[in-house]
Amino acid sequence: GKETRIKSNLSIFKMKIICHGGAGHTPKVQDGVDKAAEEGWKILKETDNPTLAVTAATIVMEDDFRFNAGTGSCLRDDGRVQNDAAVATSDGRMGAITNLQDFKNPILIARELLDEFVVMLAGEGATDFALKKGFKQAKVKGSEKGWTGDTVGAVALSSTGKISVASSTGGVRGRPVGRVGDTPLWGSGFYCDEHIGILATGVGEAITEQLMCYRAYQHNENLEKSLDWAIKLVRKDTGVGIIAIRSDGQVCGLSNTSMPFKIIEK
Ligand code: ASP
Repeated sequence: GKETRIKSNLSIFKMKIICHGGAGHTPKVQDGVDKAAEEGWKILKETDNPTLAVTAATIVMEDDFRFNAGTGSCLRDDGRVQNDAAVATSDGRMGAITNLQDFKNPILIARELLDEFVVMLAGEGATDFALKKGFKQAKVKGSEKGWTGDTVGAVALSSTGKISVASSTGGVRGRPVGRVGDTPLWGSGFYCDEHIGILATGVGEAITEQLMCYRAYQHNENLEKSLDWAIKLVRKDTGVGIIAIRSDGQVCGLSNTSMPFKIIEK
């Protein structure tokens, strides 16, 4: 049969963006998170495109050596860097890469997958895809000291009610090669639909076991209470954090440890 669709592009939503610099990270890097949020906000204002906004914000932190993503990624147990990243949009698209090596901005490669049939690529396959799309492979040294975990990420809402999320990480220091954390896992480290955009950070194994993002969304209280409930699914000494925006305008960042984050809305 024929399909009928009524499309609304009313600009009735208040634009907003929230960025985080990772659960467990020190407040000393707040300026880097602020800078990321400001960059994302600028792009959101210019384009009203939340996908461009969240990726722009994420790139700022991937390029800042103090964060565990992109150039500053922490090391696996054999000393190499492997990156995970994910992007998702409220119109039902997602892209995720895992165990990708030696690309400066993994988030751009995950974003490229939004327009493909395949939604997730690992290791060698992710590398081939990135090269085919014209990304240059170059050694990412990563950070030996740095922080043990601390994914970076951003969620944004456009004036027409579109939501996007972007998340990027080097994983958790000392984990084995091939380890997959929550960051590239749909529903665990990230989730997005027309009602919510939501991201997690912290100990990826615990977040994955609890399917944390999706369950936080399903928990039917106001946003702050829902995030609080989800964070309490893990032991207190397991550092985790969540950021989210709901299409009704609620925005919240919450963590059981220190988590630098920044909200911009006007
Ligand atoms: N969630 C990330 C991972 O487990 C790390 C972090 O956010 O600290 O890979």
